[in-house]
Amino acid sequence: MLPIDLHAHTNRSDGSLRPAALVALAREVGLRALAVTDHDTTSGFDEAAEAGRSLRLEILLGIEITARHPGRAMHLLAYGFDRREKAFVAMLEEIVRGRELRNPRILDKLVALGVPVTMAEVRAEAGGDVIGRPHIAAALKKRGHVPDAKTAFTLWLKDGGPAFVAAESLEPHEVIAIVRDAGGTTVVAHPKQLRCESTIAYGALVRKLAADGLGGVEVDHPSQKPEERGLFRRLAAEHGLVASGGSDFHGSSKPDIRLGTGDGTISVPYETYEALLARCAAGRG
Ligand code: AMP
Ligand code: ZN
Ligand code: FE
Ligand code: FE
Repeated sequence: MLPIDLHAHTNRSDGSLRPAALVALAREVGLRALAVTDHDTTSGFDEAAEAGRSLRLEILLGIEITARHPGRAMHLLAYGFDRREKAFVAMLEEIVRGRELRNPRILDKLVALGVPVTMAEVRAEAGGDVIGRPHIAAALKKRGHVPDAKTAFTLWLKDGGPAFVAAESLEPHEVIAIVRDAGGTTVVAHPKQLRCESTIAYGALVRKLAADGLGGVEVDHPSQKPEERGLFRRLAAEHGLVASGGSDFHGSSKPDIRLGTGDGTISVPYETYEALLARCAAGRG
């Protein structure tokens, strides 16, 4: 059975490929289906779906929504929703507005650190309306402040770093409810990146999210080691959640990650997507 990929980015957020090129690559690597999950936007879906029709590849509507989490952000993947639903549209507008307030604050901090870039330079790195830290990192590289984007994160932009500003967003339970009311379901992305201090703390977090109506946990993600995947698989099973996965492909901005297989260990069956859709159909979120 051919695998699918439930987590991939285009240049409508911080991936490097435009949607049609991502779909062509998905066809090339032999995927059965591809979910386009840009940060805080679904604007890449139409181009991807069009390319999918001509290349005979199923394109799944998805998104990776930025929610609040102390000291960083929580990423919630969503599937099976109606992207025209009013509250859903309003939520994305609010998150993007939050980014428009946050980005200049990050640039102010970079000026104070002696490594200035302008908003125009940052915008020039973006292929859509969702602008974030990877675009700022790319602009810092273009200015010659750093040899590569990764160094810009390490020195200044990483969570808690000297130029970090937390994203303005909604609480996870609010995002989960809005997605559920739009007929969809949510999956907590790469939970390891939430940096809980213990196994018990991860357990408490997943329990809370499950009570809020979460549909799945992203178990197979390139950033998670086998023992971490084991923990998240166990927590998903404990709470009746779908154990999901995906490559989190970004193209050239994360050159070691391949579409479909991620770090070489990812292989997600179509049944995982069906299990997520079954939750939507049951209205369970
Ligand atoms: P933003 O949504 O603007 O906060 O940017 C988040 C994105 O930045 C993530 O989805 C990653 O693609 C990227 N990112 C976050 N932390 C790092 C890091 N330490 N190194 C490289 N990329 C990172
Ligand atoms: Zn990203
Ligand atoms: Fe993410
Ligand atoms: Fe992602």
